[in-house]
Amino acid sequence: MGKIIKGDVISKKIFNEIKEEVSKLERKPVLAVVLVGENFASASYVRGKMRAGKKADIEVKVFDYKSDVLQDVLISKINALNDNINIDGIIVQLPLPDHLNESMVVNSVKSSKDVDGFTFENAGRLFKGQANFKPCTPKGIMFMLKETGIDVKGKHCVVVGRSNLVGLPLSRMLIEANATVTVCHSHTENLQQITNQADILFVAIGKNKFIEAKHIKDGAVVIDVGINRDENNKISGDVDFENVKNKASYITPVPKGVGPLTISMLLSNTLKAYKGDFYE
Ligand code: NDP
Repeated sequence: MGKIIKGDVISKKIFNEIKEEVSKLERKPVLAVVLVGENFASASYVRGKMRAGKKADIEVKVFDYKSDVLQDVLISKINALNDNINIDGIIVQLPLPDHLNESMVVNSVKSSKDVDGFTFENAGRLFKGQANFKPCTPKGIMFMLKETGIDVKGKHCVVVGRSNLVGLPLSRMLIEANATVTVCHSHTENLQQITNQADILFVAIGKNKFIEAKHIKDGAVVIDVGINRDENNKISGDVDFENVKNKASYITPVPKGVGPLTISMLLSNTLKAYKGDFYE
Protein backbone atom coordinates (compact mmCIF):
# COMPACT_ATOMS: atom_id res chain seq x y z
CA MET A 1 0.00 0.00 0.00
CA GLY A 2 1.19 3.53 -0.81
CA LYS A 3 2.28 5.90 1.91
CA ILE A 4 -0.39 8.38 2.91
CA ILE A 5 0.70 12.02 2.79
CA LYS A 6 -0.83 13.55 5.90
CA GLY A 7 -1.69 17.13 5.05
CA ASP A 8 -3.05 17.81 8.52
CA VAL A 9 0.27 16.86 10.15
CA ILE A 10 2.33 18.98 7.73
CA SER A 11 -0.06 21.87 8.23
CA LYS A 12 0.27 21.71 12.06
CA LYS A 13 4.00 22.09 11.65
CA ILE A 14 3.48 25.20 9.50
CA PHE A 15 1.08 26.71 12.07
CA ASN A 16 3.69 26.24 14.78
CA GLU A 17 6.39 27.84 12.65
CA ILE A 18 4.15 30.82 11.88
CA LYS A 19 3.20 31.16 15.56
CA GLU A 20 6.85 31.15 16.55
CA GLU A 21 7.62 33.90 14.03
CA VAL A 22 4.56 35.95 15.01
CA SER A 23 5.65 35.85 18.68
CA LYS A 24 8.63 38.01 17.68
CA LEU A 25 6.57 40.63 15.82
CA GLU A 26 5.27 43.94 17.20
CA ARG A 27 1.67 43.00 16.41
CA LYS A 28 -0.26 40.03 15.09
CA PRO A 29 -0.66 39.93 11.30
CA VAL A 30 -4.28 40.45 10.25
CA LEU A 31 -6.17 38.75 7.44
CA ALA A 32 -9.43 40.35 6.30
CA VAL A 33 -12.01 38.01 4.80
CA VAL A 34 -14.81 39.56 2.75
CA LEU A 35 -17.81 37.24 2.74
CA VAL A 36 -21.02 37.86 0.80
CA GLY A 37 -24.31 36.02 1.23
CA GLU A 38 -25.22 32.83 3.02
CA ASN A 39 -23.44 30.21 0.94
CA PHE A 40 -23.16 27.22 3.31
CA ALA A 41 -19.82 25.96 1.94
CA SER A 42 -18.29 29.46 1.99
CA ALA A 43 -19.36 30.02 5.59
CA SER A 44 -17.80 26.71 6.57
CA TYR A 45 -14.52 27.53 4.74
CA VAL A 46 -14.41 30.90 6.53
CA ARG A 47 -14.92 29.21 9.91
CA GLY A 48 -12.01 26.88 9.00
CA LYS A 49 -9.82 29.90 8.26
CA MET A 50 -10.74 31.48 11.62
CA ARG A 51 -9.89 28.28 13.49
CA ALA A 52 -6.57 28.01 11.65
CA GLY A 53 -5.80 31.68 12.34
CA LYS A 54 -6.14 30.98 16.08
CA LYS A 55 -3.66 28.10 15.82
CA ALA A 56 -1.09 30.21 13.99
CA ASP A 57 -1.71 33.44 15.94
CA ILE A 58 -2.89 35.32 12.89
CA GLU A 59 -6.00 37.41 13.40
CA VAL A 60 -8.76 36.65 10.91
CA LYS A 61 -11.36 39.44 10.64
CA VAL A 62 -14.52 38.62 8.73
CA PHE A 63 -16.51 41.37 7.01
CA ASP A 64 -19.81 39.85 5.98
CA TYR A 65 -22.43 41.33 3.71
CA LYS A 66 -25.97 40.40 2.72
CA SER A 67 -26.26 38.64 -0.64
CA ASP A 68 -27.85 41.74 -2.26
CA VAL A 69 -24.97 44.08 -1.39
CA LEU A 70 -24.20 46.64 -4.11
CA GLN A 71 -20.91 46.20 -5.92
CA ASP A 72 -19.89 49.81 -5.17
CA VAL A 73 -20.39 49.23 -1.45
CA LEU A 74 -18.22 46.12 -1.56
CA ILE A 75 -15.45 47.75 -3.57
CA SER A 76 -15.47 50.82 -1.26
CA LYS A 77 -14.97 48.47 1.70
CA ILE A 78 -12.10 46.69 -0.06
CA ASN A 79 -10.51 50.07 -0.85
CA ALA A 80 -10.75 51.03 2.83
CA LEU A 81 -9.09 47.72 3.77
CA ASN A 82 -6.40 48.38 1.12
CA ASP A 83 -5.64 51.70 2.83
CA ASN A 84 -5.76 50.36 6.38
CA ILE A 85 -2.17 49.84 7.60
CA ASN A 86 -3.39 47.40 10.25
CA ILE A 87 -4.74 44.99 7.65
CA ASP A 88 -2.05 42.84 6.02
CA GLY A 89 -3.92 40.45 3.74
CA ILE A 90 -7.35 40.59 2.09
CA ILE A 91 -9.32 37.78 0.50
CA VAL A 92 -12.73 37.75 -1.11
CA GLN A 93 -14.47 34.46 -0.37
CA LEU A 94 -15.71 33.02 -3.68
CA PRO A 95 -18.14 32.39 -5.26
CA LEU A 96 -19.93 35.74 -5.22
CA PRO A 97 -23.66 36.16 -6.02
CA ASP A 98 -24.41 36.55 -9.74
CA HIS A 99 -25.11 40.32 -9.70
CA LEU A 100 -21.50 41.01 -8.67
CA ASN A 101 -18.67 41.11 -11.19
CA GLU A 102 -16.25 38.65 -9.56
CA SER A 103 -13.27 39.80 -11.58
CA MET A 104 -13.83 43.49 -10.72
CA VAL A 105 -14.29 42.75 -7.03
CA VAL A 106 -11.24 40.47 -6.78
CA ASN A 107 -9.08 42.90 -8.75
CA SER A 108 -9.95 45.75 -6.42
CA VAL A 109 -7.73 44.09 -3.80
CA LYS A 110 -4.33 45.82 -3.72
CA SER A 111 -1.74 43.41 -5.10
CA SER A 112 0.50 43.74 -2.02
CA LYS A 113 -2.41 42.47 0.12
CA ASP A 114 -3.72 39.86 -2.37
CA VAL A 115 -2.69 36.83 -0.30
CA ASP A 116 -4.82 34.49 -2.46
CA GLY A 117 -2.76 35.53 -5.50
CA PHE A 118 -5.94 35.95 -7.57
CA THR A 119 -5.56 39.47 -9.00
CA PHE A 120 -4.53 39.91 -12.65
CA GLU A 121 -1.27 41.42 -11.49
CA ASN A 122 -0.33 38.53 -9.22
CA ALA A 123 -1.49 35.88 -11.70
CA GLY A 124 0.57 37.61 -14.42
CA ARG A 125 3.60 37.81 -12.15
CA LEU A 126 3.31 34.08 -11.42
CA PHE A 127 3.35 33.26 -15.12
CA LYS A 128 6.39 35.54 -15.64
CA GLY A 129 8.23 33.70 -12.86
CA GLN A 130 8.16 36.68 -10.45
CA ALA A 131 5.24 35.86 -8.17
CA ASN A 132 4.29 38.11 -5.30
CA PHE A 133 1.90 35.66 -3.73
CA LYS A 134 1.51 32.18 -5.16
CA PRO A 135 -2.09 30.88 -5.01
CA CYS A 136 -2.55 28.83 -1.86
CA THR A 137 -3.70 25.43 -3.16
CA PRO A 138 -0.90 24.87 -5.70
CA LYS A 139 1.61 26.45 -3.32
CA GLY A 140 0.46 24.02 -0.61
CA ILE A 141 0.82 21.07 -2.98
CA MET A 142 4.40 22.07 -3.89
CA PHE A 143 5.20 22.48 -0.21
CA MET A 144 3.70 19.10 0.63
CA LEU A 145 5.78 17.35 -2.04
CA LYS A 146 8.95 19.02 -0.78
CA GLU A 147 8.20 18.07 2.85
CA THR A 148 7.59 14.47 1.77
CA GLY A 149 10.92 14.39 -0.10
CA ILE A 150 9.33 14.03 -3.54
CA ASP A 151 11.34 15.91 -6.16
CA VAL A 152 9.38 16.77 -9.31
CA LYS A 153 12.51 17.65 -11.30
CA GLY A 154 12.59 15.71 -14.57
CA LYS A 155 9.43 13.79 -13.65
CA HIS A 156 6.38 13.48 -15.88
CA CYS A 157 3.67 15.35 -13.99
CA VAL A 158 0.13 15.03 -15.33
CA VAL A 159 -2.34 17.64 -14.11
CA VAL A 160 -6.01 16.82 -14.69
CA GLY A 161 -7.95 20.12 -14.56
CA ARG A 162 -6.98 23.53 -15.94
CA SER A 163 -8.81 26.01 -13.72
CA ASN A 164 -7.33 29.41 -12.90
CA LEU A 165 -7.61 28.43 -9.24
CA VAL A 166 -5.71 25.13 -9.27
CA GLY A 167 -4.73 23.40 -12.52
CA LEU A 168 -3.11 26.29 -14.41
CA PRO A 169 -1.05 27.84 -11.58
CA LEU A 170 -0.02 24.36 -10.43
CA SER A 171 1.22 23.54 -13.95
CA ARG A 172 3.23 26.76 -13.99
CA MET A 173 4.81 26.01 -10.62
CA LEU A 174 5.68 22.46 -11.70
CA ILE A 175 7.39 23.77 -14.84
CA GLU A 176 9.30 26.26 -12.68
CA ALA A 177 10.45 23.29 -10.57
CA ASN A 178 11.75 21.57 -13.75
CA ALA A 179 9.02 18.94 -14.14
CA THR A 180 7.75 17.84 -17.55
CA VAL A 181 4.06 18.73 -17.49
CA THR A 182 1.00 17.50 -19.36
CA VAL A 183 -2.30 19.27 -18.66
CA CYS A 184 -5.60 17.45 -19.28
CA HIS A 185 -9.16 18.77 -19.26
CA SER A 186 -12.68 17.83 -20.23
CA HIS A 187 -11.82 17.71 -23.97
CA THR A 188 -8.79 15.46 -23.52
CA GLU A 189 -9.00 12.31 -25.59
CA ASN A 190 -7.67 9.01 -24.19
CA LEU A 191 -7.27 10.42 -20.69
CA GLN A 192 -6.38 7.04 -19.22
CA GLN A 193 -3.53 6.60 -21.70
CA ILE A 194 -2.07 9.92 -20.51
CA THR A 195 -2.61 9.46 -16.76
CA ASN A 196 -0.97 6.03 -17.07
CA GLN A 197 2.25 7.78 -18.04
CA ALA A 198 2.30 10.02 -14.96
CA ASP A 199 5.08 9.70 -12.43
CA ILE A 200 3.09 12.19 -10.39
CA LEU A 201 -0.63 12.63 -11.03
CA PHE A 202 -2.53 15.70 -9.80
CA VAL A 203 -6.31 15.67 -10.01
CA ALA A 204 -8.45 18.81 -9.61
CA ILE A 205 -11.73 18.31 -11.46
CA GLY A 206 -14.50 18.18 -8.83
CA LYS A 207 -15.83 14.73 -9.81
CA ASN A 208 -16.28 12.19 -7.05
CA LYS A 209 -13.87 9.20 -7.32
CA PHE A 210 -13.42 9.83 -11.06
CA ILE A 211 -9.82 8.59 -11.16
CA GLU A 212 -9.69 4.84 -10.66
CA ALA A 213 -6.89 2.29 -10.23
CA LYS A 214 -6.83 1.72 -14.02
CA HIS A 215 -5.71 5.35 -14.51
CA ILE A 216 -2.59 4.92 -12.37
CA LYS A 217 0.88 3.67 -13.23
CA ASP A 218 2.33 1.32 -10.57
CA GLY A 219 4.28 3.34 -8.01
CA ALA A 220 2.99 6.75 -9.12
CA VAL A 221 2.46 9.60 -6.65
CA VAL A 222 -1.20 10.68 -6.56
CA ILE A 223 -2.28 14.12 -5.34
CA ASP A 224 -6.04 14.54 -5.00
CA VAL A 225 -7.30 18.12 -4.83
CA GLY A 226 -11.02 17.42 -5.25
CA ILE A 227 -13.59 18.06 -2.55
CA ASN A 228 -16.88 16.31 -3.26
CA ARG A 229 -19.70 14.58 -1.41
CA ASP A 230 -19.94 10.83 -2.00
CA GLU A 231 -23.09 8.71 -2.17
CA ASN A 232 -23.26 8.73 1.67
CA ASN A 233 -22.83 12.54 1.81
CA LYS A 234 -19.29 12.10 3.14
CA ILE A 235 -16.47 14.32 1.90
CA SER A 236 -14.40 12.54 -0.72
CA GLY A 237 -11.92 13.35 -3.44
CA ASP A 238 -11.62 13.06 -7.21
CA VAL A 239 -9.65 9.82 -6.74
CA ASP A 240 -11.03 6.43 -5.72
CA PHE A 241 -8.70 6.37 -2.71
CA GLU A 242 -9.43 2.83 -1.46
CA ASN A 243 -8.51 1.20 -4.77
CA VAL A 244 -5.81 3.59 -5.94
CA LYS A 245 -3.82 3.51 -2.67
CA ASN A 246 -2.68 -0.05 -3.42
CA LYS A 247 -1.02 1.01 -6.68
CA ALA A 248 0.41 4.39 -5.68
CA SER A 249 3.73 4.93 -3.90
CA TYR A 250 2.30 7.99 -2.16
CA ILE A 251 -1.24 9.31 -2.05
CA THR A 252 -3.11 12.19 -0.40
CA PRO A 253 -6.39 11.42 1.38
CA VAL A 254 -9.52 13.59 1.29
CA PRO A 255 -10.14 15.05 3.82
CA LYS A 256 -6.83 15.79 5.62
CA GLY A 257 -4.78 15.96 2.44
CA VAL A 258 -4.39 19.04 0.27
CA GLY A 259 -7.13 21.05 2.07
CA PRO A 260 -5.22 21.82 5.31
CA LEU A 261 -2.18 22.93 3.27
CA THR A 262 -4.30 25.47 1.38
CA ILE A 263 -5.26 27.18 4.64
CA SER A 264 -1.68 27.05 5.98
CA MET A 265 -0.41 28.76 2.84
CA LEU A 266 -3.03 31.49 3.21
CA LEU A 267 -1.71 32.26 6.68
CA SER A 268 1.86 31.98 5.50
CA ASN A 269 1.10 34.48 2.69
CA THR A 270 -0.49 36.80 5.28
CA LEU A 271 2.72 36.73 7.30
CA LYS A 272 4.67 37.47 4.09
CA ALA A 273 2.39 40.45 3.44
CA TYR A 274 2.97 41.74 6.99
CA LYS A 275 6.72 41.52 6.42
CA GLY A 276 6.47 43.15 2.98
CA ASP A 277 8.37 40.12 1.73
CA PHE A 278 6.66 39.83 -1.65
CA TYR A 279 8.79 38.07 -4.22
CA GLU A 280 8.88 34.27 -4.28
P1 NDP B 1 -13.23 23.95 -11.85
O1 NDP B 1 -14.63 23.46 -11.98
O2 NDP B 1 -12.95 25.40 -11.98
O3 NDP B 1 -12.34 23.20 -12.95
C1 NDP B 1 -12.46 21.83 -13.16
C2 NDP B 1 -11.48 21.41 -14.22
O4 NDP B 1 -11.62 20.01 -14.39
C3 NDP B 1 -11.71 22.05 -15.59
O5 NDP B 1 -10.49 22.44 -16.15
C4 NDP B 1 -12.38 20.95 -16.39
O6 NDP B 1 -12.07 20.99 -17.76
C5 NDP B 1 -11.74 19.71 -15.78
N1 NDP B 1 -12.58 18.54 -15.94
C6 NDP B 1 -13.90 18.42 -15.64
N2 NDP B 1 -14.33 17.19 -15.97
C7 NDP B 1 -13.28 16.52 -16.49
C8 NDP B 1 -13.10 15.23 -17.03
N3 NDP B 1 -14.11 14.37 -17.09
N4 NDP B 1 -11.87 14.89 -17.48
C9 NDP B 1 -10.84 15.77 -17.44
N5 NDP B 1 -10.95 17.02 -16.94
C10 NDP B 1 -12.15 17.39 -16.48
O7 NDP B 1 -12.70 23.37 -10.47
P2 NDP B 1 -11.50 23.86 -9.50
O8 NDP B 1 -10.19 23.71 -10.16
O9 NDP B 1 -11.87 25.13 -8.86
O10 NDP B 1 -11.64 22.73 -8.36
C11 NDP B 1 -11.45 21.38 -8.66
C12 NDP B 1 -11.76 20.55 -7.41
O11 NDP B 1 -10.81 20.92 -6.39
C13 NDP B 1 -13.13 20.82 -6.78
O12 NDP B 1 -13.59 19.61 -6.21
C14 NDP B 1 -12.85 21.82 -5.69
O13 NDP B 1 -13.80 21.76 -4.65
C15 NDP B 1 -11.49 21.36 -5.23
N6 NDP B 1 -10.67 22.38 -4.58
C16 NDP B 1 -10.02 22.00 -3.46
C17 NDP B 1 -9.20 22.88 -2.81
C18 NDP B 1 -8.46 22.42 -1.61
O14 NDP B 1 -7.95 23.24 -0.87
N7 NDP B 1 -8.34 21.11 -1.40
C19 NDP B 1 -9.04 24.26 -3.28
C20 NDP B 1 -9.69 24.53 -4.53
C21 NDP B 1 -10.50 23.62 -5.15
P3 NDP B 1 -12.53 22.21 -18.74
O15 NDP B 1 -11.57 23.31 -18.45
O16 NDP B 1 -12.37 21.65 -20.10
O17 NDP B 1 -13.93 22.54 -18.37
